[in-house]
Amino acid sequence: MIGCRCEVCRSLDYRDKRLRTSIYVETGNQHFVIDTGPDFRQQMLREDIARVDAVIFTHAHRDHTAGLDDVRAYNFLQNMDMPVYGNAATLTQLKVEYAYAFEKVSYPGIPRLTLNEINDQNFTVNGVTIIPLPVKHLHMEVLGFRFGNFSYITDTNFIPDETLVKLEGTEVLVLNALQREKHISHFNLEEALAMAKKIHAKKTYFTHISHKLGLHAAIEKEFPANVMLAFDGLTI
Ligand SMILES: [Zn+2]
Ligand SMILES: [Zn+2]
Ligand SMILES: [Zn+2]
Repeated sequence: MIGCRCEVCRSLDYRDKRLRTSIYVETGNQHFVIDTGPDFRQQMLREDIARVDAVIFTHAHRDHTAGLDDVRAYNFLQNMDMPVYGNAATLTQLKVEYAYAFEKVSYPGIPRLTLNEINDQNFTVNGVTIIPLPVKHLHMEVLGFRFGNFSYITDTNFIPDETLVKLEGTEVLVLNALQREKHISHFNLEEALAMAKKIHAKKTYFTHISHKLGLHAAIEKEFPANVMLAFDGLTI
């Protein structure tokens, strides 16, 4: 947190240096980014990512969308418009926040985006089948995504039964765990641990972690063997 002097924000452990939540998925010859938060550019530079075939959004909160302008680097590199996937509410919000990218008369250097609306039905991107996992983030519908045996759910405090069915057989699960105290729109640590137990993946990683959760090294000691805290740069 900007200006914070707490032990997590001052920690020298690299696992306590948390940028905004996002993942990069490699499957077959395809490379997807899920969410482009304000740290998108920094994350792509840090991980030296030279290819993005599509951007897929969970929801339109700024901590997940504010870095979208920087996909223009991939427009130049790949000489193509960037396919963007999101539900109707997300795409509507993107058109507001990035109005300049959707003007009739284009200006050189703006990000070139192709919007693709998705809903709770499975969809395919360049031959890769992706299963949306609808969840509730207070009143907002957020989409998690399943690729094969990997499921990714961020920003929720309620997973409906229909989505729990879609999660069956997941081997690696990523789930949000914001902090210890109860929160209006995210699972807290206790709720995330209970949900991890219920879904029962072989491995569960917690993400979307606030500085209020505590030090990585200390928190992880409390977990069962199949639950871990994710950290920036983690490769699975
Ligand atoms: Zn802090
Ligand atoms: Zn959110
Ligand atoms: Zn968020």
